[in-house]
Amino acid sequence: MRAAELGANVLTLEQHHRVGGSANTAGGSISGTGFRAQIAAGIEDSPEKFYEDFVAMGGEENMNTEIAMVHAQRSGEAIDWLEDYVGVEMSDQVDTGGYLTMNTNRVTYSASGASSGGGLYFVNALMDKLQGFIDQGTAQLALEAMVTDLVLDENKDVLGVVVDGLEIKAPSVIIATGGYGYSEKWLKEFNFTNITSNDPPTAIGSGYDFARAAGAAFDNMNYSSCYGGSVPVSGFQASLRANINYPGAVWVDQAGLRMFSEPDATSMDKRTVWRTAKDNIVYVVVAENMIKDDAPLFTGMMSNSAPFTTQEKLVELEDQGYVFKAGSIQALAEMLKMPELVQTMETYNKDVAAGKDSVFGREKDLAAFEGPVYAVYTVPYLMMTAGGPRINGEAALVREDGSVVQNVYIAGEIIGSANIAGHNTIGGIGHGLCATWGRIAAENAVKNAGK
Ligand SMILES: Cc1cc2nc3c(=O)[nH]c(=O)nc-3n(C[C@H](O)[C@H](O)[C@H](O)COP(=O)(O)OP(=O)(O)OC[C@H]3O[C@@H](n4cnc5c(N)ncnc54)[C@H](O)[C@@H]3O)c2cc1C
Repeated sequence: MRAAELGANVLTLEQHHRVGGSANTAGGSISGTGFRAQIAAGIEDSPEKFYEDFVAMGGEENMNTEIAMVHAQRSGEAIDWLEDYVGVEMSDQVDTGGYLTMNTNRVTYSASGASSGGGLYFVNALMDKLQGFIDQGTAQLALEAMVTDLVLDENKDVLGVVVDGLEIKAPSVIIATGGYGYSEKWLKEFNFTNITSNDPPTAIGSGYDFARAAGAAFDNMNYSSCYGGSVPVSGFQASLRANINYPGAVWVDQAGLRMFSEPDATSMDKRTVWRTAKDNIVYVVVAENMIKDDAPLFTGMMSNSAPFTTQEKLVELEDQGYVFKAGSIQALAEMLKMPELVQTMETYNKDVAAGKDSVFGREKDLAAFEGPVYAVYTVPYLMMTAGGPRINGEAALVREDGSVVQNVYIAGEIIGSANIAGHNTIGGIGHGLCATWGRIAAENAVKNAGK
């Protein structure tokens, strides 16, 4: 969009039958600093403060410090541009955006807010604006046009792309193909033993293959954030979530050991528990006395919205082998071949009686396990990947030897949130990467095309 605004002739190639990718199902948050709504709310902020939050929450050693500072500097104007130029309807709400709390409120929302559907406001406005350029003849959009390769010269610099075996040459190429959150192969190669995805099937990570072919270096590929509690009833496609904070529940790993003071876990702690558990398998254990009709133990995700009760789902999942029900902890431990579970729960029950968890200091929600017990088999799910090819402040791909791949720029999730903000998740970073780096990539691609 920014390239068309700057006067370039733009060809957009989209593998799917509609544009928008993850934003079609995403929430509407976006983060930045110095944008109008933040100033209007009287919030004092600066790129330096944004950068300091990246360092404090994500670790400077994990970041590409050059692009982190550029992101901090240019993220605010990108939000204003979305509203003023593209015409995205925005709310005036500004807050911390959940996840890890930044020191300053700098997350805002499209007009429909944080919930699913907010991302469509970005997609629809961008599509309307692009249509204007298509109508005036300076932009083209090809749907169901899968790019399979880059066209490279002998130095592995970029000359164009390949679609359907056809080489399309261009003075500049922008790769905005998203993350690899729907590539089970990549997720298992780099990040997880067991994983499910709440990404749309468009997030196949092909841009990573393109960047690799051009010799780009990669950073933070071994890091990916995730959410806990997916019950993998639909294989890789996440469709059912256990309520991991169910009152009274404890989490145990495959050895039968607890991992955290469950009710005190921040959203980041929960991600870490599921990311680092052996084989990414965590059992959510509850007892019959804890299950209440008005507190659902399971929630459907994405395509799975048919109503069900907790008891119905427990029976169904037991049949499918995702719930293990036993008359006692001993019987459950035998069923799961988890001898340590007996000791874990004996200690826990004693601690409950004493009113203090001696292992993790849990004080909230201490409830004795009585009656039949249930262990729900869960793995993580994700909505976004965090590693990506190395770039410089102009969004150009960089190789391990520091040389810049010519004529190609990247934007969006493929940049990798960890390369900007380290090992954490902050609200609105996904859309922030699209808007901020979409503009930077386009500006440099246009400049490069005119040289
Ligand atoms: C359920 C959900 C909720 C989310 N909520 C938020 C939120 O509230 N705030 C936030 O900041 N982030 C959120 N995110 C993350 C955010 O939506 C994404 O990071 C962002 O939309 C990624 O945009 P992108 O354009 O980089 O990639 P994508 O959205 O993946 O788009 C890439 C596009 O490129 C196309 N493509 C891929 N490969 C090829 C190829 N080889 N040839 C042609 N076309 C190709 C794809 O079909 C797709 O349309 C959420 C994500 C999900 C899944």
